[in-house]
Amino acid sequence: MLTISNYHYIRENFNANYPSIFGVTPDLFKNQLILLKGKGDFISSIDLILNGDEILKSKDNYYLITFDDGLKEQYNCAVPVLEELNIPVILFANSRNYQDKKVSTVHKIHLLRSMLSPKEFLSKISHQNDLNTISDAIVEKAQSIYIYDDKETAVLKFLLNFKMDFTIQEKIIKVIFDNYFNENEVLNELYMNEKEIVHLSKKGFLGSHTHNHFPIGLMNEDEITFELENSKLYFEKLTNTKIETVAYPYGSPEASTSEVARIAIKAGYKYGFTTTRGINTQDSNCLLLNRFDCNDMPGGKNYKVV
Ligand SMILES: [Zn+2]
Repeated sequence: MLTISNYHYIRENFNANYPSIFGVTPDLFKNQLILLKGKGDFISSIDLILNGDEILKSKDNYYLITFDDGLKEQYNCAVPVLEELNIPVILFANSRNYQDKKVSTVHKIHLLRSMLSPKEFLSKISHQNDLNTISDAIVEKAQSIYIYDDKETAVLKFLLNFKMDFTIQEKIIKVIFDNYFNENEVLNELYMNEKEIVHLSKKGFLGSHTHNHFPIGLMNEDEITFELENSKLYFEKLTNTKIETVAYPYGSPEASTSEVARIAIKAGYKYGFTTTRGINTQDSNCLLLNRFDCNDMPGGKNYKVV
């Protein structure tokens, strides 16, 4: 059986006006890896591709470490710890950040949310988006997805990620973002550069996180195909390696549907990763593997001993 622990941000401190970027410190990350090392064996993407069936069928505990979003801090803070402990990893990156030289809208939102209160942000998105006018069903759904956030933040994230049309969202967020940040500067500071991407790929550590970082389960077949194929081809050409793993952005059931899994196989992926919590066994769909947030794993802040 295979347990996958997923990470995003990793940095020494997460201070901000409105803390909205969360993650682990390098020390916490290292401690968690040491804890897991005592409970099972770590596998790489190559192990998964070559021996996936055996790993999933096995009664032994296997662990896989993954990072989403292709962030520079992952290269600077996580990869050295992993190398020190001789643990493999898959880092999933978006091709948009390299091919289009654009910051993903999801990260523009993270940065803006660290400067603006949820109330200010909601009012900038639309004059109609007052929490009082939002239905109970939306509030309930938002809180079921964003279980670690307060009500206002959960609703803001739900509206942005699942309710707004992508093209409109891109435009609205771009205008607000450009008032506070320089896109090129953020691009260079936030994401790994091409050399770092190539370095990781040579170790078998690179996977696709699609092109644009959209919840692709909500898109049409042509758009899903583009998101999956373009990122695969772009990174394969850049790195001269095969990219056979994909982590679906957001990874919720709405974002990673059976339709997404079907198109991912067609695009040539062997394994796909969601963010549905759970251990993977021989009954798992290889294109819809479960992953735990690192906070829910042993050594994580929400982990409860049962
Ligand atoms: Zn992501």
